[in-house]
Amino acid sequence: MNNDHWKTRSLAHVWHPCTQMRDHDGEAPTLPMIPVKRADGVWLEDFEGKRYLDAVSSWWTNIFGHRHPAIVEALKAQLDELDHVMLAGFTHAPIVELSERLVRLAPPGLNRCFYADNGSSAVEVALKMSFHYWRNTGQTKKTRFIALENSYHGETLGALAMGGPSMYRDTYAPLLLEPIHVPSPDCYPRGAGESWEDYTRRQFWHMERALEQHADEVCAVIVEPLIQCAGGMRMYHPLYLTLLREACDRHGVHLIADEIAVGFGRTGRLFGCDWAPPPGFDEDAQPGITPDFMCLSKGITGGTIPLAVTLTRESIYEAFWAEYREGKAFLHSHSYTGNPLACRAALATLDLFEDTRVLATNRALSQLMWAQTAELRQLPHVAEVRQQGMVLAIELAKNIRTKEPFPSEERRGVRVYNYGLEHGVLLRPLGNVIYFMPPYVITPREVETLCKVATEGIRRAVRD
Ligand SMILES: *Cc1c(COP(=O)(O)O)cnc(C)c1O
Repeated sequence: MNNDHWKTRSLAHVWHPCTQMRDHDGEAPTLPMIPVKRADGVWLEDFEGKRYLDAVSSWWTNIFGHRHPAIVEALKAQLDELDHVMLAGFTHAPIVELSERLVRLAPPGLNRCFYADNGSSAVEVALKMSFHYWRNTGQTKKTRFIALENSYHGETLGALAMGGPSMYRDTYAPLLLEPIHVPSPDCYPRGAGESWEDYTRRQFWHMERALEQHADEVCAVIVEPLIQCAGGMRMYHPLYLTLLREACDRHGVHLIADEIAVGFGRTGRLFGCDWAPPPGFDEDAQPGITPDFMCLSKGITGGTIPLAVTLTRESIYEAFWAEYREGKAFLHSHSYTGNPLACRAALATLDLFEDTRVLATNRALSQLMWAQTAELRQLPHVAEVRQQGMVLAIELAKNIRTKEPFPSEERRGVRVYNYGLEHGVLLRPLGNVIYFMPPYVITPREVETLCKVATEGIRRAVRD
């Protein structure tokens, strides 16, 4: 069975996600369909033995490489003991152990874990819980949310509504909640000579004003700490989180940290929230803020099986704890909530963080990624190369001085993507942004390959 065999059968019945299917099977296909037979470490392999370096960690999920032996072992052992049991009225060792571990690792004060099976659902849980908390405590006017422009929080209607205006959201606008969207601290548009910190502080003014005007009707502010990933890997200074924590407290509004993409070491620390400088820049104080809700998914199982969790504070949990007849319980569930296999994969993933000192090795790897993109940074039409930990993003623009983008229909990113696939590197772009978000087990040699292919792919994609 070769590639064409699986490709034909796939295109006959599978509706692929986030895809204009005509790109694959129209008269002049612009995107290849690649059947993957197996995977190992950072490599995917098709049915004809061709290999692809998974530079985007299979949509940011795969942090320790494909089929990591420790995770595979843990899954096999769990499968021999308990496959699945409903979590209402029942519990099991993997979920107890995982909850204890997550509470130990999370910002202090996040003490309760509510599970789901994908990131969007974890966001829905946070939104519903925040609203319901205010209702249970008698604040029934609070029915809205504040979100950042250019943000992305998932695809289900509640999570989709929180996302900034975009091609993912706009079609469904008539169906959606209407959050208060506030200009983003994303530093790409900052003026020449302005520091990230100054720009971020300046942009915070919009948030402060929205809170002043709307705190009475707002349940929570939701943000992606440090990096607006789906919005084109746009980055901002962690000072924003410090200012936001303080302002949410002052205005009596919850803070939801959507760490679905950036959690588990991607930014260089375990969580994006861990970067927030202490208020007043007290040098003796520990950095980091505690949000009221923290959503985790993607990397949590090392990219093996779906799992998501929303962590929250004991004080929020307590507002739901009452006599049954008071009707205050959080009556939300998903069929596969707390699946034991997924929890075991997550525990094995957390073991890897403890056993391998991965955050330290990642520092060296991210420096290497930066060094290896020196040539790329000089190419025409490369408007910015930005990096935070194990995310490096390259923004292409028609005019790098005015930052006028390439028209989206020119699909410059797709040209890089196709060049990458021909040369054995998976670089799925976000519009005009090419990015590296590799598994943490990538070797220096593989970083070199990745950067070489990306450099040449970009050089060709921006030529006319
Ligand atoms: C991917 C993502 C989601 C949605 O997670 P799914 O598992 O795809 O539903 C939500 N928020 C952020 C920041 C994400 O990157």
